Amino acid sequence: ASIFAAVEMAPRDPILGLNEAFAADTRAEKVNLGVGVYYDDNGKIPLLAAVRAAEKARLEAMPPRGYQPIEGPAAYNNAVQGLLFGKDSQLATSGQTVTIEALGGTGALKVGADYLKRLVPGATVYISDPSWENHRALFESAGFPVENYPYYDAASRGVNFAAMKAKLDSLQPGSVIVLHACCHNPTGADLSDAQWDEVVAVCRERGLIPFLDMAYQGFAEGIDADAVAVRALSSSGLQFFVSSSFSKSFSLYGERVGALSIVTASKEEAGRVLSQVKRVIRTNYSNPPIHGGAIVAAVLSSPELRQMWEDELGGMRERIRAMRTGLVDQLKAEGVAQDFSFVIKQRGMFSYTGLTAAQVETLKADFGIYAVSTGRICLAALNSKNIGYVAKAIAQVVK
Ligand code: PLP
Repeated sequence: ASIFAAVEMAPRDPILGLNEAFAADTRAEKVNLGVGVYYDDNGKIPLLAAVRAAEKARLEAMPPRGYQPIEGPAAYNNAVQGLLFGKDSQLATSGQTVTIEALGGTGALKVGADYLKRLVPGATVYISDPSWENHRALFESAGFPVENYPYYDAASRGVNFAAMKAKLDSLQPGSVIVLHACCHNPTGADLSDAQWDEVVAVCRERGLIPFLDMAYQGFAEGIDADAVAVRALSSSGLQFFVSSSFSKSFSLYGERVGALSIVTASKEEAGRVLSQVKRVIRTNYSNPPIHGGAIVAAVLSSPELRQMWEDELGGMRERIRAMRTGLVDQLKAEGVAQDFSFVIKQRGMFSYTGLTAAQVETLKADFGIYAVSTGRICLAALNSKNIGYVAKAIAQVVK
């Protein structure tokens, strides 16, 4: 018999399954709100002008393609630290922070998880309820038990902070807590600045290990404003982990550009930690690919390209905001009595709309509008051409 004869079919990824169903739908007016990607007003994934300029310069320079350092190039890693901690931050200049280039935010979480398993093998990892669906799988596959801490409050459509804090207050020292740094996926509900300070205080009091996931820096308020959680931890003197992703902020999804940063207590400690993280990388993919990281580093280190990028990122942010307001206004205009104004307060690409699984099913069956069964929609999949159709359809299913 084949060695694969007894292999079971793994469950389908629910969101990829949704994309397949969408692709097979022949209705011209169909809309896919289930995606986790930013589309422009023409429904296309943008290729940013700053990225294009950096790519053109690189193509002309025709650099050789040797192996990169295991941790990635210093220029890239320094640029990542600048975005996270701010220009000329102490955490960067002191040498106490390790940053390695990773294969997207997912790769950063994976390297971080594997390293944590060596550092604190008996720990439990806590993720928000709900969270990005890959968090649980990633940390479980690194060998950790994964549990939830309370987060989303359906009644207020915000964060149940009292319950979250009470849970964190009860955890064993050395527990790892994964926190969405901004633009919570899937709910769009973020902590306030004051609540971040409280989370930092609990982490200190309980001896918890914070792991920030920063996949949407620049999508809520701006580069620095969205780093509030990182900055609160930075000034606390605590040690912590941060994964960065440039998939969304540079629209470089398929190039797999991300980074893992680990803040240690000293430069000497950072040297030892980096040596261990490099072992994790070496036995996994050896060293990162060149292209995506080189483009991001080139954009961030050129004042002109950086300005261009910040303007383009601001444009994406503003367009999403306009779609939030537009959807709320059009639902009202369609005569929907229910108050949807919470959609404007949620941040980032997503909204937990409160649509039920049955309503999501009706949207698909009757209108060719696809959303995640939890009611999560991606605002960045709305545009000036489809927003009216979507608002009409939602109005019908909620009436
Ligand atoms: N973390 C969160 C919260 C995300 O939403 C995503 C992507 O959707 C990632 C991490 C992964 O990012 P990447 O595509 O760069 O691996």
